[in-house]
Amino acid sequence: DYGLTEADPEVRRIIDMEKKRQFKSLELIASENYTSRAVMEAVGSCLTNKYSEGLPGKRYYGGNEYIDELEILCQQRALAAFHLDGKQWGVNVQPLSGSPANFEVYTAVLKPHDRIMGLDLPHGGHLSHGFMTAKRRVSGTSIYFESMPYRLDESTGLVDYDMLEKTAVLFRPKLIIAGASAYPRDFDYARMRKIADAVGAFLMMDMAHISGLVAASVVADPFEYCDIVTTTTHKSLRGPRGGMIFFKKDPVLGVDLESAINNAVFPGLQGGPHNHTIGGLAVSLKHAQSPEFKAYQNKVVSNCGALASRLNELGYKLVSGGSDNHLVLVDLRPMGIDGARVEKILDLASITLNKNSVPGDKSALVPGGIRIGSPAMTTRGFTEKEFVATADFIHEGVQITHEAKRLVSGSKLQDFLKFVAAPDFPLLDKLSD
Ligand code: PLP
Repeated sequence: DYGLTEADPEVRRIIDMEKKRQFKSLELIASENYTSRAVMEAVGSCLTNKYSEGLPGKRYYGGNEYIDELEILCQQRALAAFHLDGKQWGVNVQPLSGSPANFEVYTAVLKPHDRIMGLDLPHGGHLSHGFMTAKRRVSGTSIYFESMPYRLDESTGLVDYDMLEKTAVLFRPKLIIAGASAYPRDFDYARMRKIADAVGAFLMMDMAHISGLVAASVVADPFEYCDIVTTTTHKSLRGPRGGMIFFKKDPVLGVDLESAINNAVFPGLQGGPHNHTIGGLAVSLKHAQSPEFKAYQNKVVSNCGALASRLNELGYKLVSGGSDNHLVLVDLRPMGIDGARVEKILDLASITLNKNSVPGDKSALVPGGIRIGSPAMTTRGFTEKEFVATADFIHEGVQITHEAKRLVSGSKLQDFLKFVAAPDFPLLDKLSD
């Protein structure tokens, strides 16, 4: 029984290189974080060997006494971490990740082709909230359900709740989804609750991006108004890759959410739970209740604020003007440059962030913005000072991108992106100094 280094040097090498990459670069992808060694120990443990289809006490396999104990502990910690102790809420900790968790909710409370409304992907929503284009139903959600996205008010960069309300009254969705992948502000849950009640819809919040912030009470609490709350566990929450579904225990619109959701997870869409992930999740949910975690989440928000202010000072246009959470969305179009080129240039300088569409964008492949998040570098100990410096580095990257674009224009190279990606890219030396 060899360890990885002896058993498989090839995979060992790749992991070592990835680790180096992760720690050498400025990781600014808003959905990423560094989980703890304790979480990784649990994820890399013998828990991965065990089958445990079903729920604690109701398994389809023997030998689950310790797995039952673990899953119950994880559920208890999940409810405690989100301040749901003693409240009529339950949780399923088995979803394999965020997208499966969302689809499990849809199959639990909807029939095929029932109507849903989520934030449009080009306006910050997630694929799994029903994204489709004029030509194609892209996600499983839009294939199996009828989706009518709501959008931002392009003049403010905020969710257009008036339009959501008008559309909901006409479209009569059965489910309204709050939550986003690229929205720098809080959702108005009270307003969305009113709209859902007016049309007889369930209200779900996908808090994947901000679940750490919710646990630390540094943003609004979706549990106050929603019927169902889903989340990934690996973003601001800083756990292993996975998902959770929280549900009200009292029936909603005549549906027993607890049994509908538990059955949708298993046997509806999943088989055996990933017990190693549930082990890692339990560890991270213990941490999520600590004062240190609350202090960390406060810093995530203040660091992001410092980044936003500096970008504003440097003349950048931020969608919605700033940020209340862990991310900023920069609209680069007024600067005469796009997010794809800037992402590429910054990548060469080991600054990792992602291109992102911004309201009014024409192309998803060459979108006009970039998304910048603070959770990962805050875990690495960055303070506001370093985030101000990060804004300056990004600014430098944008200027270099302009310069590269200027050099290329008039050259024979038609495809600028290919040119930038080439190993002999002329500015590479300058960037790697
Ligand atoms: N929901 C939101 C809001 C997300 O941002 C994401 C991923 O970025 C997901 C769901 C999907 O999670 P996963 O990638 O774990 O399927």
